[in-house]
Amino acid sequence: MLTVKGVVLTQRMIGEQDRFIDILTAEYGVIEVLVKGAGKISSKTGSGTQLFAYSEFCLHDKKKGARMLSSVSPIQIFYGMRSSVTAVALASYFSQVITFAVLPRSGIPEILRLMLNCLHFLCQKDTDEAMLKAIFELRIAALLGFMPDVVMCRACGTYLPETLYFLIEDGYFVCKDCQSTEEALRPSVEMPAGTLQAIRHIVLSDLEKIFSFRLREHCRQPLFDFAEQFLGYHVDRQFQTLEFYRMIKGGT
Ligand SMILES: [Zn+2]
Repeated sequence: MLTVKGVVLTQRMIGEQDRFIDILTAEYGVIEVLVKGAGKISSKTGSGTQLFAYSEFCLHDKKKGARMLSSVSPIQIFYGMRSSVTAVALASYFSQVITFAVLPRSGIPEILRLMLNCLHFLCQKDTDEAMLKAIFELRIAALLGFMPDVVMCRACGTYLPETLYFLIEDGYFVCKDCQSTEEALRPSVEMPAGTLQAIRHIVLSDLEKIFSFRLREHCRQPLFDFAEQFLGYHVDRQFQTLEFYRMIKGGT
């Protein structure tokens, strides 16, 4: 028997009664669990295994394929999120990124903390969702080993250029005046100094601090563009949950 705490990222029905859930844990990364009888109305496991629930799971030892759920007790159910379609869409996007990129047994405890923090903020009414999305994208990229080089202009060593180009694929930046003709042909995001400072804050600060900083209006969009493109390129995948989020965001 294994007891483990984790967040339910995805669920798939198997027939009428059973389903598989993917759980993000601190110690074991993402693990797949079979929940027997989940489809029954009186299911005791209901709230603890629902999407985005943070629960303590007791799992039978692995025989073939997935582990089977023995019992579960919810620790936190993020109810507040249900009132916002965009919040649920973002949580689904975060889940899909993690499910895709975090292998079983590659436990990175901070990924669970990042997800729990994001779920907490998605339950708050006044959360800046576009900002939260960018923070998640950059931090998870860094945690997965795709760390942008935020030190200085690759060409001249300037720490904080007034305007710069951050190259998506190469993950470094150059001042506007230092950009070579060859670099100008590669995908990059033009940004002001304030956006660079925000990127540094998000990838380098302690996790508790990354959700609180002020950013001037003209610095926001370049941050959003860079975060989404940088993560998408480096995990090398199109996420349909991101498409869905964009679609409903555009419609509101
Ligand atoms: Zn330079």
